[in-house]
Formats: sequence, structure tokens, C-alpha cells
Amino acid sequence: MAYDQNNIFAKILRGEIPCNKVFENDHALAFHDINPQASVHVLVIPKGDYVSMADFTANAPAELIEGFMRAVGEVARELGLESGGYRTISNAGPNSHQEVPHLHIHILGGRPLGPLLDSRFEN
Ligand code: AMP
Repeated sequence: MAYDQNNIFAKILRGEIPCNKVFENDHALAFHDINPQASVHVLVIPKGDYVSMADFTANAPAELIEGFMRAVGEVARELGLESGGYRTISNAGPNSHQEVPHLHIHILGGRPLGPLLDSRFEN
């Protein structure tokens, strides 16, 4: 899948639309999800044109992969989620309901989250 320069996270990275930022460095930007699914719901995105985890891990330079993954851990720490625990999710492709075609890792926490998947998936 080709990277779409007009996706909403590309616009956030270019500063064309605002976000509620929680962290930024040379490799990553993290901001609160606009439609939170948990009491803490933050998205971490790499500073590069990658659609998914598969695209990123196949094509990004090692320095960016390292910097991005370290940023995910740092954001969770800074959000105070380590002691209580948290969940990271990265959706890719139609079966996952990926809405935004720029790699992002959801960090979810703040209270007990329940099971990863609902039993209805078996239907
Ligand atoms: P996904 O379904 O994994 O692609 O998740 C996309 C996420 O981006 C959803 O949880 C949306 O609520 C969130 N989202 C969409 N637009 C924005 C925005 N402008 N700022 C923050 N989060 C957004």
C-alpha cells in the first residue's frame, strides 16, 4: 500500500492540524486520541512515511525503528502507566479496522482494560 501524504497523521506531523501533544523527539510524536477508548489513550507515531508495522520494520532505517520503539516505552513511563500496566495495539489493514494509514501504536491504560478481544470474534 502506497503512503498517502494526505492522511490525518501526516497533516499532524506537518503541523497543518493540531494535536494534544504529550511527547515529541526526533523520531516520534505522541498525542491523545481524539476519541479515547480508555481513561488514558495515547497514540505514538513515527516521524516517517510508513503505513503499518510491516512497512516500518521492512523499510525504515534502524535508527528510526530504535528511536520510535524507545519513544513508546518512554511515553508509557511518562504517563505513569508502568505500575498499573497498560496495553499497546497497532492496527494494520482492513481486518484490524485500521482507519489512519500512518503507523501508530495505541497506548491504553489508566484502569483495568478487560480482555484483549471480545468472544464475539469467534462468530
Ligand atoms: P486505527 O483504527 O488504529 O487506525 O486508529 C486511528 C485512531 O486515530 C482512532 O482511535 C481515532 O480516534 C484516532 N484519531 C483520528 N483522528 C485523530 C486526530 N485528529 N487526533 C487524534 N486522534 C485521532
